[in-house]
Amino acid sequence: MRIANLGGRLTLLLADGVIDVATASNGRFSPDPQAAYENFDDLKRWAAAQGVPATAEFDLSTLDPATLGPPAPAPRQVFAIGLNYRDHAAEGGFTTLPEEPTVFTKFSSSLSGPVTDVSLPYGEVDWEVEIVAVISRTARDVDVSKGWDHVAGLTVGQDLSERRLQMRGPAPQFCLAKSHPGFSPTGPVLVTPDELADPDDLTLGCAVNGEEMQKARTADMLFSIPQLVAYLSSIVTLYPGDVIFTGTPAGVGAGRTPSRFLGPGDELRSWVVGIGELRQRFLSRTDSVVASASAG
Ligand code: ZN
Repeated sequence: MRIANLGGRLTLLLADGVIDVATASNGRFSPDPQAAYENFDDLKRWAAAQGVPATAEFDLSTLDPATLGPPAPAPRQVFAIGLNYRDHAAEGGFTTLPEEPTVFTKFSSSLSGPVTDVSLPYGEVDWEVEIVAVISRTARDVDVSKGWDHVAGLTVGQDLSERRLQMRGPAPQFCLAKSHPGFSPTGPVLVTPDELADPDDLTLGCAVNGEEMQKARTADMLFSIPQLVAYLSSIVTLYPGDVIFTGTPAGVGAGRTPSRFLGPGDELRSWVVGIGELRQRFLSRTDSVVASASAG
């Protein structure tokens, strides 16, 4: 099943069109995409009863990207994982690998849809393409073998990061430095794990102005998605609709020699094969003020 936030409404994408869930269900389900995760099993059963196939190719180019929002627009919690690929840990200068996941948060105010303009704050803004998991039910002390049973689906994410603030001070400021407005684009769709041939082995990457910067397979993650669900739920309660950014592979700008960061006019494309693509254009603060003034 492929789920989108289309114009702020919960929508299923089929090979031959879209279903507005609230309308088609006569109000049984809320139009709010975030509410889908509260009764996700019900939604799947209802979709199956409507004849929605488990797998359905959909041509995203038929949708206006500006109408797409984040598949989980208002999660209670947003987790992010650091150092979850061996080669990314190495480029960060870490000589030993973490024995358990390195966890921080991104604030939900930084979430956006898949195709956006991002105003650059002062500093050094870097890219981090990631696979993002959305939780389907309240979870506590989940066994690794049951991890996937607690995942509604996967989407593409960018964990945009302003490196100066991230590294400044006696203790790193991960949460703030990765939570500027627009720093957590996700989308374009949420794909349920049963739709993917192998949800543990997906190819992801990103490119700046057409130049490939990152490319990896999620099978190379140090902690798999089921392991992350098990680990997080051993400490905190996971809620339906919670979002987990699962970590980025090598190739970030800060890990390059010389280092490279995003500037005004740059375009960042990020993708996961089988799910879709994000597209961010970066504006200087001055340009974005002018743009929003002329738009308003
Ligand atoms: Zn990250």
